[in-house]
Amino acid sequence: MKINLAKSAGFCFGVKRAIDIALKTAASEKNVYMLGDIVHNEDVVKQLRKAGIKKIARLASGKNKTFLIRAHGIGGKALQKALKRGYRVIDATCPMVKEIHKIAQRMEKESYRIIVIGDRLHDEVSGIIGQLKNKAIVIDNSEHIPVKTIKKLKKACVVVQSTQNLEKVLKIVELLKKHIPELKFFNTVCKPTRMKQEEIKRMPLENDIIIIIGSKNSANTKRLYEISKSLNKRSFWVSSKKDIRRNWFKGVKNVGITAGASTPDYTTQEVITYIKQIT
Ligand code: SF4
Repeated sequence: MKINLAKSAGFCFGVKRAIDIALKTAASEKNVYMLGDIVHNEDVVKQLRKAGIKKIARLASGKNKTFLIRAHGIGGKALQKALKRGYRVIDATCPMVKEIHKIAQRMEKESYRIIVIGDRLHDEVSGIIGQLKNKAIVIDNSEHIPVKTIKKLKKACVVVQSTQNLEKVLKIVELLKKHIPELKFFNTVCKPTRMKQEEIKRMPLENDIIIIIGSKNSANTKRLYEISKSLNKRSFWVSSKKDIRRNWFKGVKNVGITAGASTPDYTTQEVITYIKQIT
């Protein structure tokens, strides 16, 4: 039986970088705080907690404290608040997310209304719209386009949350083009996400079964699973080796394995070793 591991499996460059920055900061400073979890993965969250990083829901006094900005970034107001309260700020925002901030700010200066295609409640989207002076329009789905508002726009600029599904994005952009005379579109879906999406469209067709590794609260893992399942019924979503079942591998010649962007490599390796042991 052959095990085919996706090239894009696991952490993306931005998450890896943010975790490295977090661990380095925790090694040299005592009071390090972070708004929410660094990624949706229990093991990684535990690792950072062990290193001494504390999770907070809001920013209190920042005297002698360090505030770590996660890979998804934060809005300008939240950053100002942290600085005002006295936090020393360490910014682990992914450079690709920073790039989206820059584009949105630049185009706003050029009088374009900013439209963000992304999940309304996601931290990255809050961070993008939080960079702007005017209210941005957020569209999460082609069925949720605020047509009345859109029809009034003469010029608008579309940026995209880095992890969005490209096909879905292009569909929304086509619909927007029908209503907005001057529409600038910046495809800001990041390279690691594109690679993951390409692989998950191919791998389920090339393998007898597909194993997708990631926490059950990881949105990007869920997306990978849904695409895979639509192409290959024998797709299985596991959070660790304990979810693997021996009977999945009966008569299987090729096993495709991928992992969500918040899954550490050691979890993936444990799954692979376990599959080799039981088959
Ligand atoms: S998904 Fe892309 S933009 Fe987001 S942290 Fe990873 S590399 Fe950066």
